Amino acid sequence: MGLMRLMLFALAAMAAYLLFKRLASPFRPSVEADQGDDRLGRLVQDPNCGVYVDSKEAVRRKAPDGELFFCSKECADTFFEKARHGA
Ligand SMILES: [Zn+2]
Repeated sequence: MGLMRLMLFALAAMAAYLLFKRLASPFRPSVEADQGDDRLGRLVQDPNCGVYVDSKEAVRRKAPDGELFFCSKECADTFFEKARHGA
């Protein structure tokens, strides 16, 4: 049963290592975390044409359910025009 014990030991060591890493840096945000800071810029989708744009470069419009980002002023106008006509 030498191999089994070795595997169990490796698992325990890995768990301890992960736990230690987590305890060592409790406040460091993970890379996958949502980047809520707009200064950093993030990829947002234009709801009108579906193109992805950087939030820093995007045309912003206030909407009832939040802020929307568009690739251009024309797209924003078109989107709200369509919404107004219920299409
Ligand atoms: Zn667009």
